[in-house]
Amino acid sequence: MAVTANRAAIQVPCPWHQDDMERFVEQHRQGRLPHALLLTGSAGIGKARLARSLAQTLLCQRPAGALPCGQCDACHLSAAGTHPDLQSLAPEGDSRVIKIDQVRRLVEFCSRTAQYNGARVALIAPAEALNRSAQNALLKTLEEPGEGMVLILISHQPSLLLPTVRSRCQRRSLPLPAAEPALRWLVPQVGEREAPALLAAAQGAPLRAVELQDAEWFAARGRLINELVAVAQGRVSPSQGAQALAAHDPRIMAQVLYGWLARAARLACCLDGQGEQSDMPSGEVHDPLVEPALAQLARAVPATRLLRVAQRVMEGRRQLLGGANPNKELLMEQWLLALGNR
Ligand SMILES: [Zn+2]
Repeated sequence: MAVTANRAAIQVPCPWHQDDMERFVEQHRQGRLPHALLLTGSAGIGKARLARSLAQTLLCQRPAGALPCGQCDACHLSAAGTHPDLQSLAPEGDSRVIKIDQVRRLVEFCSRTAQYNGARVALIAPAEALNRSAQNALLKTLEEPGEGMVLILISHQPSLLLPTVRSRCQRRSLPLPAAEPALRWLVPQVGEREAPALLAAAQGAPLRAVELQDAEWFAARGRLINELVAVAQGRVSPSQGAQALAAHDPRIMAQVLYGWLARAARLACCLDGQGEQSDMPSGEVHDPLVEPALAQLARAVPATRLLRVAQRVMEGRRQLLGGANPNKELLMEQWLLALGNR
């Protein structure tokens, strides 16, 4: 059989994480890699990919620079998800939490010895899915994980972690990638025409931009943003506006609305002479189709109220992700009511 046909799928980090990857692998080579890493940053920037790639490289028997070789036994086992020295903890089934039983299995795993070349890795994502007792059950392991063990925790919301968990990890905050490398990565996947608009809708998080493609809302977004402006200007009732929004997946709409409101709030701050308040990297990408309407929204509604509505939308999104199944139109009407309040 040809060698190429026998290659395992290797996990490669996103291009903007290449430097982080090389630094971690170099630290490992020098025996200085912390035994508990906490990778933080926005959802959809590739933290989990970086972690999986690092795990596969640490376990690889013949790593090629900062990448796994894709040919050794360890690479094949990692790719198949059956490497005995690799454990992944994530919510199971429909659950939104990582249960304490899963943590106990991990603690047990950490107490064993390595079956392959020494390194053992545990991935926990998202770490905020550990409830308080599960986090407490992990503390001792974070402190003394055992010989050759590396624990990699991934978190979009590290503030939800116990301070005792955070303090036992070395934290690496991963920023949003700059627009240029993000677009270079995104264009081959979603097309040149749609990439900037999708990246804008995903607030600069490229992997989330991929998830947002092909949704019906995208084709309808010009109409949807105008509906939002019309509600803000009092030309359309919140319930009519909600009807238009409710035609689409509420979780995606919450995501998109949040992005629009946050962008409009930043524009409104500029109008107020308070300057651009942005955590976006330089070269922020905008969607030319919605940008004029966002400017209208910024003129119609003060920044503080836009942010309040954005907050409410985020809370709604969290409920939806948590499995709540509210009446979509009523939920969205609640969001829009706050927008039109004078
Ligand atoms: Zn390998």
